[in-house]
Amino acid sequence: MTSHQIRQAFLDFFRSKGHLIVPSAPLVAKNDPTLMFNNSGMAQFKDFFLGNGTPPSIRIADTQKCLRVSGKHNDLEDVGFDTYHHTMFEMLGNWSFGDYFKKEAITWAWELLTEVYKLPKERMYVSVFEGDSKDGVPFDQEAWDLWKPIVGEDRIILGNKKDNFWEMGDTGPCGPCSEIHIDLRPEADLALVSGKSLVNNDHPQVVEIWNLVFMQFERKADSSLIPLPATHVDTGMGFERLCMAVQSKMSNYDTDVFQNTIGVLETLSGKVYGGNDEPFADIAMRVIADHIRAVSFAITDGQLPSNVKAGYVIRRILRRAVRYGYSYLGLQEPFFHKLVPVLADQFKDVFTELKAQEEFVTRVILEEEKSFLRTLESGLKRLDVIINSQKDKGVNTIAGDEVFELSDTFGFPVDLTALIAREKGFQIDETGFQAALQEQKKRSRQDAAKEATDWIELRESEGVEFLGYDFEETHSNVVKYRKVKTKAGEEYHIVLDRTPFYAEMGGQVGDTGVLELNGRTIAISDTKKENDLFVHISTDKNLDEALQQADHVVAKIDTQRRAKIKANHTATHLMLSSMREVLGTHIGQKGSYLNDEVLRFDFSHFSKVTDEELKKIEDIVNAKIRENITLDERRNVPIQQALDLGATATFGEKYGDFVRLIIFDPKFSFELCGGTHVPSTGEIGLFKFTSEGSVSAGVRRVEAVTGEKALELMRQQEETLTKLKELLKSPTDLIKAVENLVEERNALQKKISALENEKLQDIKAGLIAGMEKHKTFNLIVEKVNVPAADSLKQLSYELKDQVENLIVVLGADIAGKPQLSVFIAENIVLETELNAGKIVKELAKEIRGGGGGQPFFATAGGSDATGLESALAKAKEQF
Ligand code: ATP
Ligand code: MG
Repeated sequence: MTSHQIRQAFLDFFRSKGHLIVPSAPLVAKNDPTLMFNNSGMAQFKDFFLGNGTPPSIRIADTQKCLRVSGKHNDLEDVGFDTYHHTMFEMLGNWSFGDYFKKEAITWAWELLTEVYKLPKERMYVSVFEGDSKDGVPFDQEAWDLWKPIVGEDRIILGNKKDNFWEMGDTGPCGPCSEIHIDLRPEADLALVSGKSLVNNDHPQVVEIWNLVFMQFERKADSSLIPLPATHVDTGMGFERLCMAVQSKMSNYDTDVFQNTIGVLETLSGKVYGGNDEPFADIAMRVIADHIRAVSFAITDGQLPSNVKAGYVIRRILRRAVRYGYSYLGLQEPFFHKLVPVLADQFKDVFTELKAQEEFVTRVILEEEKSFLRTLESGLKRLDVIINSQKDKGVNTIAGDEVFELSDTFGFPVDLTALIAREKGFQIDETGFQAALQEQKKRSRQDAAKEATDWIELRESEGVEFLGYDFEETHSNVVKYRKVKTKAGEEYHIVLDRTPFYAEMGGQVGDTGVLELNGRTIAISDTKKENDLFVHISTDKNLDEALQQADHVVAKIDTQRRAKIKANHTATHLMLSSMREVLGTHIGQKGSYLNDEVLRFDFSHFSKVTDEELKKIEDIVNAKIRENITLDERRNVPIQQALDLGATATFGEKYGDFVRLIIFDPKFSFELCGGTHVPSTGEIGLFKFTSEGSVSAGVRRVEAVTGEKALELMRQQEETLTKLKELLKSPTDLIKAVENLVEERNALQKKISALENEKLQDIKAGLIAGMEKHKTFNLIVEKVNVPAADSLKQLSYELKDQVENLIVVLGADIAGKPQLSVFIAENIVLETELNAGKIVKELAKEIRGGGGGQPFFATAGGSDATGLESALAKAKEQF
């Protein structure tokens, strides 16, 4: 079976068992503060298990793009070194939400593996949770009883809490799991060592392929467990490992999932995968073939490489790949981006989003590669300096903090530092490096530390009703609340059964406002979405009693602030359509942020937006504002219908089956959007760009203001002009007046330079007149009166051109700061031990300063000008 057929067979099988097949969620996790990237199939269904929201079906199956490079699951360092852990992989999964449980999950898994995929029964092992008395959870008898007649007792392994008990997080749903492992070793090896003894032992051919999780408990904040009212099934099977098993390969990389990419790499590098005795070349090919998937799909789903958070994780993966190519495959020119087309073709029918953005992804990666190759170069230079200075000291270790600085500041990978060091007979101080790393981790953990209590549930509620599209005030009830300690202090998180507060989403900030409960008014400073909940945040103190006793809440948003936010959101839509008209239809949204003051928008575009183009865009937007187009809002439109109508969806956004359409003239602006908008465009008033620039390769950012803010901006500019006119005594032509001023200044500058030069020539003549002639050299040691430290250099160099065999030591007091320079003719340096750098360091002591330079010219600065005379006297003694 090909990998395509294997994937399809999985989906078909579960469809035949009554499952709804859904698309993969984007790789980048949104609206989940605990996750950067989706790292398992269940991540997109978390809300359903937490009881916030209802799944579209009680049986679901899919293939989910997962990324395990940060947080709880981080396999990055293993990738490439082993043959079955990836950064990005597909997790095939089936779910039951309060429907079937262990019996069906186990029998179906077995049926699929043995009857559809025809995997050999005698090569499979299963694990069952052994129980944990400390935790008060029993042995999973039910799973054991189900597996026993299927595989036989001797193929069941008991697993401990670490391997066989799954928990969503510190709190929340959890339960025992049952894993299926397969032994893919060659026949001859089977007789030597039993497969059972190799399960869970990091053997590359005895691997876990499927994990069946049975959710039946909930973990509370005090770490006690209570049974869940409804039990669920959550399974995850590694697609690439399954392909290895079905295709009878010894490594994931030998399957058709990776062979195309590896083929291209072989051509690019001229090396053969697996066919050489360079183990690191094989590792490098695996690293690269793996990483291109993670990087391409992350960019496709909206996560561009950057210097912070998730973007930094992607940048590091990209750099790891480029670096392996550089060090072990001899690929020292950009190559990584050349793998994108292969991947885009391979996945064009599975994850279509990559093919659709192939060119964009390729260019982003190319730019990143170029900049990293430059980084590598400067890192290499820096490393040279460090190694040489250690050599001078007779040490052959590179200190831990230097290694850390190289990686942290220069982005220079640690293993590369170690490798280069080794080549030069050096080693790195690994312990010191780890210490520096831990120190940094500790700092960032402290920064992020947040501590939350359990939710205190006050009322039952079927999810949250958001009424903010139609109302600015609602009559509501408190459903639950909790207290959260943050760096800034304590905050309350309050959930209502219905609310007019918009929670930060799709770039639009959360609403602020007040909650009035039984005579007390609580200030809400922000509203955030956590999973499917709308969380109202208050920093008011001592709210417990008021919240617990409230039998009724009036929730009111700050309507004036909301009005400005709405204007900015609608303006963003008008701007995007205008950009597509002016710059082209390739303009795609790459990020958006808007509040009551400003709108910021990132988009894919490869050159600077010119002033001319910005003006054109502004003109169209303002014309649309004056047209006063009425909002056409349509809710609950089936997604396919919306797309057929021509709505633009943003890649990397997860849309439900039903979407909301925001239309301002169907021929102009037609967007899928959950945000709030003005009823007609006239309310925006005025639209004005304030900046345009680059964010990263291929992505530009504009900022703009609307309404009152735009007016304010105009006023400020007007005031600046008035001030300028006043300063220039109200000239008739202001621009001309400023130009004149600049011209005059340039002319004066020239005059001053000429005068200074003249003076320098006088000084020079005086110095030559007072020169002492020694047997083998000419000596000038003098204090001079010059305007800048640079003049010492100029004097020395000009003197050198006029006098042979010259040594010049000059001192000057420049506005209270003593300066020294030492010049020694190159031939003297070559013939004697004299070194200007060393001499100036010695002399600098007299002026309480320091300096250095090259053997033939060096300078020093100090803090005690009274020491100049003695410094010069000391210089005379030297020669
Ligand atoms: P392992 O112990 O092999 O790392 P795991 O216990 O982390 O696996 P789960 O979290 O149970 O795995 O994930 C479910 C399935 O996903 C696994 O059975 C495996 O087939 C697959 N899987 C997990 N991590 C990876 C990875 N990094 N690359 C490829 N497949 C993976
Ligand atoms: Mg793992």
